[in-house]
Amino acid sequence: RAKAEARGVFRYFEPDMDARLQARRVLENDLRHALETEAFEVYYQPIYSLGAERVCGFEALLRWKHPVRGFISPAEFIPLAEELGLIIPLGEWVLAKACADAVRWPDGLKIAVNVSAVQFTSASLVSAVRDALRVTGLPGRRLELEITESVLVANPGTTTAILHSLKGLGVRVSMDDFGTGYSSLSYLRSFPFDKIKIDQSFVRDLCEEDGTDFIVRAVISLGASLGMTTTAEGVETEAQLARLRAEGCDEVQGYLFSRPVPITEVPNILARWNGAARAIA
Ligand code: C2E
Ligand code: MG
Ligand code: MG
Ligand code: MG
Repeated sequence: RAKAEARGVFRYFEPDMDARLQARRVLENDLRHALETEAFEVYYQPIYSLGAERVCGFEALLRWKHPVRGFISPAEFIPLAEELGLIIPLGEWVLAKACADAVRWPDGLKIAVNVSAVQFTSASLVSAVRDALRVTGLPGRRLELEITESVLVANPGTTTAILHSLKGLGVRVSMDDFGTGYSSLSYLRSFPFDKIKIDQSFVRDLCEEDGTDFIVRAVISLGASLGMTTTAEGVETEAQLARLRAEGCDEVQGYLFSRPVPITEVPNILARWNGAARAIA
């Protein structure tokens, strides 16, 4: 038994593990430093309305330009920021930046900002949103907050209260990555969401042999019957677009239209899809 324990200890300090812990510690330090030096950038990906046949908004996507490693994906550093308690200041920074950028865009355009579970249930979210709107002058109706199902499952009671406070500010709320979490359909009915974003894993499968077209169709009709807008994420092909259009999906987003781009590219995107380049300062 002592032998087994000793082996356990030994395994824990395997050089591999040690190196990984080391790398993580370095990344942690870099992340703290990045926040102080504002090494982050917000990229924007257009969201296209199939009803209006034009870009109706943008999603803000955080980018970390690491001095050595180059761009690091939010999928990698957001969980770390959550763990280190840095997600609150980081999330507030994104919110303020995205609102400040979006207020200069034509009035019909919305801005969608991702909010992590930790940030969503923090005491400061509603006041951070209120502050961002007040400071930038962005009308609440132009802001959409995207949250994932994990928020609902962990804290249904708190979530409902926060959603209602946000609605009081005129802000819209979207269910992101729908279909990938553990929430039941009844959750969707009991929370006042304005929009469902169909996860890209289902969209990727569209038009494939043995694909999951029926899931996409079901979510679109569910959204319609609940009075929610449906947005398909990760649209990459004309075939996927045609199918989504035929199924009555409201909005689409994906590389077929544009990758997420730096703020300076936003006028070009609008010129291309909306013919409104001059509307921006
Ligand atoms: P998400 O909110 O579901 O964002 C969509 C992700 O899909 C983005 O990845 C986007 O670049 C990518 N994408 C868009 N169109 C396509 C496509 O056609 N094909 C493929 N393969 N991918 C596409 P990204 O920017 O790496 O972000 C990953 C996730 O990180 C986001 O997923 C979101 O959950 C999180 N995230 C990003 N920015 C923020 C932020 O400011 N705050 C928080 N809390 N989370 C963020
Ligand atoms: Mg999102
Ligand atoms: Mg998503
Ligand atoms: Mg996602």
